[in-house]
This record gives sequence, C-alpha cells and structure tokens, in this order.
Amino acid sequence: MNDRRRRSDIAARDLEHLWHPFTQMLEWEKEDFPVIVRGEGVHLIDEAGRRYIDGVSSLWCVVHGHGHPKIVEAISRQAAALDHSTLLGLTHPAAVQLAERLAAIAPEGLTRVFYSDSGAAAVEVALKIAFQYQVQRTPPRPEKRRFISLREAYHGDTIGAVSVGGIDLFHEVYRPLLFDTVKAEAPYCYRCPFGKTYPACDLFCADEMEARVRDRADELAAFIIEPVMQGAGGMIAAPEGFLKRVRKVCDECDVLLIADEVATGFGRTGTMWACEREGVVPDLMAAAKGITGGTLPLAATLATEEVYGTFLGDAASMRTFFHGHTYTGNPIACAAALANLDIFEEERTLDRLPGKIDIFAGELDRMKARPHVGDIRRRGLMAGIELVLDAEAKA
Ligand code: PLP
Repeated sequence: MNDRRRRSDIAARDLEHLWHPFTQMLEWEKEDFPVIVRGEGVHLIDEAGRRYIDGVSSLWCVVHGHGHPKIVEAISRQAAALDHSTLLGLTHPAAVQLAERLAAIAPEGLTRVFYSDSGAAAVEVALKIAFQYQVQRTPPRPEKRRFISLREAYHGDTIGAVSVGGIDLFHEVYRPLLFDTVKAEAPYCYRCPFGKTYPACDLFCADEMEARVRDRADELAAFIIEPVMQGAGGMIAAPEGFLKRVRKVCDECDVLLIADEVATGFGRTGTMWACEREGVVPDLMAAAKGITGGTLPLAATLATEEVYGTFLGDAASMRTFFHGHTYTGNPIACAAALANLDIFEEERTLDRLPGKIDIFAGELDRMKARPHVGDIRRRGLMAGIELVLDAEAKA
C-alpha cells in the first residue's frame, strides 16, 4: 500500500517507531499489514473485524487456541498474588510446581529444570551446560568443547544459537561473530545431499552423520538437534531411525545429546516430545514456545542428574552454573505453563490428536497433485509444503 493516509491510526504509528523481527523495514512500509487486536480459539481478528485462521499458531506457540479461559484465569490469579520475584536467592511455588510437572512429563531421566525466557536462551543454556559439564566431569575433558549440528538447523538468534544454526540466509552476515562448529548434512530426503533415494538409501545420511561424529569425537562436547523435524530450515522431516542413530553414536563417542524441542514439544508432532517417537532420551533438552500454551515468554532447559551432578561443589569450587536472566522463572509465566499442562490432562489433548492428525493428513494429501507442490512433509500436526516452479526439476 503506497497511500499511507489510508492506514489505520495504529498501522500508521507502527511505521514511526516499531522495528519488526526478520523484516526489511523498507519493504514493510509498502505492505498492507493487518493490525491484530484479538485472539479467539484458532482465529486472530484484526481491527476491521476480519478473522484469520492462525495456521502458524503465532509462531508454533499456541497449543489450545487463543484465550483459553483456564490460562487466562491462572495468569490473572498469579499476577494478583505474586507478579515477579527472582529465583536468585529466593524461590516461589509456581517455579517449584512447574519444575516437578516438567520433570514428570519429560523423557525419563531429565529431572533438573533451568528456566529462561525464549527458545534461543534455552539453547544457550544447554550449550553452556554441555561445555561446562565436559570441563567439570571426572576426569575432566576440557578439549571436548565443540558442537556438532545439522545443516539447515535453526536454534534461535542469539550468538551461540546462531553458531550451531545452519541456515546461511539468516546466519551468513553474522559469521565473523560465531564460534566454529562441526556440521553434518540434514536428512533432507526430497533434496538428498548425497543424491540418494529413500528408502533404498538405507539411511546413508545417518552413516555419514555417524562418521562426522566419530572423526571429531575427541573435540565434541555435544550434538544439538531438532528431533524428528527441522522446523525453520524448511520443515525437513528426518526419516524414521535417524534420531535413534544420533543417540547411539553420541553414546558410543561420549558426546552429550541436546534435543532442541522448542518447536516440536508440547504435542506438535503427535507425542508430548518428538524424542518419544523414537524412544530417545537426550542428556539436555530445550523447551519453550508451547510451554505456556502461547501466552507468555518462558523456556526451560532440562538436564539429567548426571549432568547436574558435575556442577555440585562448595562455592570456592567455581562449579556454579553462571547463568540467569532477570525474569528467570517468572511466576506469572510459570502459572500459565501449569495451567497449560492442566489442560493437557483435563482435555486429554494428546489422546484427541490422532483424529485431528488424520484429517490434516487427508487434506494435505489432496494438495499433492497441484502443479507447484514439490513435496509435503509432515510429522503429527507439524507440516511443510515445499513449493516449486517446476516439480519435475524441483526448481
Ligand atoms: N529452536 C527451534 C527449533 C526453533 O524453532 C526456535 C524458534 O523458532 C528457536 C529455537 C528459538 O526460539 P525463540 O524464538 O523463542 O528464541
């Protein structure tokens, strides 16, 4: 839209001071962007009353629909009782209860919960813990300080998360700031980096991934992976068995496994965690997005007792995990997360998924025949449609 006078008051004022994420602001000025004023169930509603289906769940966060009364009520009750109090030197019930609940639903053995407030922060926490674990374990392995990750990986936008990321389009400009990582090819069947075809390939990509880990095992602190589905990199669905192979080679090579469940967690792929689909238990797990049902920023990094144990010692031992944020474990966000988990139980959210997934899969199938649909990839309710100019050439 070129005529700025036709904009609503809020839309016009947006251009005066707001800087939007991942947005070329010069292009933004030409856009006729919606001003969202309300959320209701699956819908977002703009100031003109138009309804939009929130198909990206407001960046994969909203789990039970917008404005679920149970979460709204929990937020309001907690805000009135205790709005914020630091976890540095103090504690509060909501943080404790949520840690218990997360430990109870996490893959078995992930019993320690460290809070932060975004997916990227939860990843940074996992990276720092993995690094420090190698330094503080017995015997220490300080030379194990590198990370391996997949090409096309997306783990967030802070410097550590970008370093382990693999999307050149987003990350190239920051290259001089990043630390060195080892990369394995993404298990991207539609455009196999090895020119193979699934399933005849017999998971050749997993063989190659294992070789990368074995080659560099002495330097590797951890393998970080988006389990089952690489999201922002293009909804790249790993063939079944790939994740299990990552766990196996990490065990064999004494490398920690960090599962970044920021996008896949809280039922998105049909199970509470994507790792469950392959019976994999990581050493560290990052969770965010759906943790509050899409209402407030909260994240958690979960760790095993084995990892946690290496951080114990007296104050002088300097084994402390030196990390924290002002809003770490904010009570209102924790209360929203507790209500989110209550809804999972009361509404049997996971049990009711298969029917929805069937409908979704059926509808996606109908799109396969369209000329510009190259590939449709789906795990549970997480799906991507790869659009192409020419399906034959995959261009
Ligand atoms: N990890 C994964 C797998 C993600 O998909 C994202 C965000 O899309 C992040 C980390 C970063 O989360 P946040 O945007 O909350 O920092």
